Parts: sequence; structure tokens; C-alpha cells
Amino acid sequence: MSTVLRVELLAKTYKAGDGDFFAVKDVDLEVSQGEFVAIMGPSGSGKSTLLHLISGLELPSRGTISLCDINLTDCSDDERTRVRSEKIGFVFQFFNLIPVLSALENVVLPLLMAGHKESAIHNRAISLLTDMGLGNHLQKRPKELSGGQQQRVAIARAMLANPPILMADEPTGNLDTKTGFDVLRLLQSACRAPQRQALILVTHDPRVAALADRVLFMRDSEIVGETHNPDLATNPENAAQFLYTIQQKWEVLMS
Ligand code: ADP
Ligand code: MG
Repeated sequence: MSTVLRVELLAKTYKAGDGDFFAVKDVDLEVSQGEFVAIMGPSGSGKSTLLHLISGLELPSRGTISLCDINLTDCSDDERTRVRSEKIGFVFQFFNLIPVLSALENVVLPLLMAGHKESAIHNRAISLLTDMGLGNHLQKRPKELSGGQQQRVAIARAMLANPPILMADEPTGNLDTKTGFDVLRLLQSACRAPQRQALILVTHDPRVAALADRVLFMRDSEIVGETHNPDLATNPENAAQFLYTIQQKWEVLMS
């Protein structure tokens, strides 16, 4: 299976008082096409910083990031911006929609800014929003939509360029349980054929993490453990076992 993301010895330091501290330290990570990776960790453990580094929103202090065999760390600023807009779709906890724009305008804006012609992306944006049950809400502003609907608009925006990697930072953190799981199913479906996008998702909820192929645990800026989803085909009870393992590791991590 092809590797869409390869991260080696990635680190980010920030200034604090007289010295520097690591927000992310020595992270090695490979993610394959179609793989769903969940990241769990206490608040402040570096999860968001890791996602921002991988997506090029922040520059690393050291280490390498390669997206679909393009080494981001060798790119000029312009190249990095282009690679990021082609390869990565980002979904935020608080949706990050522009209040004065309609749902449809929010979805097409990033690609318009990247130089795509409106005529080339307009129909795909409408069909994505329609597939997500928002066909009657294309012209609505974010404040006229529910939280779940706003997050679906944000997912349509992340998916418009059909990027090989989707990243979601606590995308269900601001939604009720049922709406959250609807949003998750939508993200999860991107991992399957035909798109087979990779999904890297930060969550505090073991039930959400249990849907992933693999769960990474972060603590104090490092990845300190990982657990793989067992083969459900051989034994359906493995699903309950996987959730139990995640809950146990999560409790240890938070203790
Ligand atoms: P998480 O998403 O796991 O809650 P973050 O990645 O947001 O953690 O933060 C990791 C650490 O880095 C925290 O101590 C946070 O305060 C710090 N941090 C994050 N962004 C910045 C920044 N821009 N400047 C300084 N410190 C930061
Ligand atoms: Mg965070």
C-alpha cells in the first residue's frame, strides 16, 4: 500500500521565558493511503502542533515531512503552499467558516484563492454539499446552520480538492454525540474506495478512536504508544476488545 505521509524526527520548539520548550519532539510517523489514524493525548501534549506541522500551517524546528513523496522541508514558501492545498484537507474543531460567506462560497474559497477557475469547481462543490444533505442550504450563512451542518460544510471544503490526506483536529469536540458520529461516518467514508483518502484525526473520545485502524497516544510532546485495530473479520468481538484497550491506555495517559 502506498505511503502518503512520512514524518521523521519531527520537532517544534517554542520560546518560554529564557529557554525553549518542545511542543512536539522526535515524532516518526508513516501513514498509508486509505488509513484512518486517531491521535489521543492530554490537553497540551502537542496534538494540534503535530497536525499543524504536517499540514504546513507551522514550520518545524527540525525533522522532515514528506507528503506523497514530496519533501515539504525542501520546498520554497510558494511550493509548500501549493503542495499543502493539493495534498491536505484540514477540518477544525470550531469549523473556521467565514461568517459573511454562504456555505457554497466557503467551500470553494480556498481553491479560488489557489487560482482554480470557479467554473471548474462550482459543480463539484454543489454535489459534495448535496451528498452531505446540504443541498437546500447552499446559500445559507454559517450562523443560519446548526453545528453539525457547519462541520459538514467544513468537511466539504476540506474534500473539494480531493486531497490524499484529511486531517481533523477534534472535529466532533463541539457537537452532540449523535451529530458527532454522523460527521465521523462522513470522514470515515473518505477512507474507503474510490477516494481512499488517509484520515488523521485527534479525539479525546475512546469510542471515536475505536473506529480508527490505528491509535497513537501522545504525552509531553512525544508519541508514547500505539495500538492497532485487530482484524474484525476473524472475530467480531475484537471491536469490543479494541475499545477496551484504548480506554485502558487513555486512563493511564490521563493519570
Ligand atoms: P494539544 O493540541 O495536544 O492540546 P498543542 O499542540 O496545542 O497541544 O500545544 C502543545 C504545547 O505547545 C502547549 O504547551 C501549548 O501551550 C504550546 N503552544 C502551542 N502553540 C504555541 C505557540 N504558537 N506559541 C507558544 N506555545 C505554543
Ligand atoms: Mg489541540
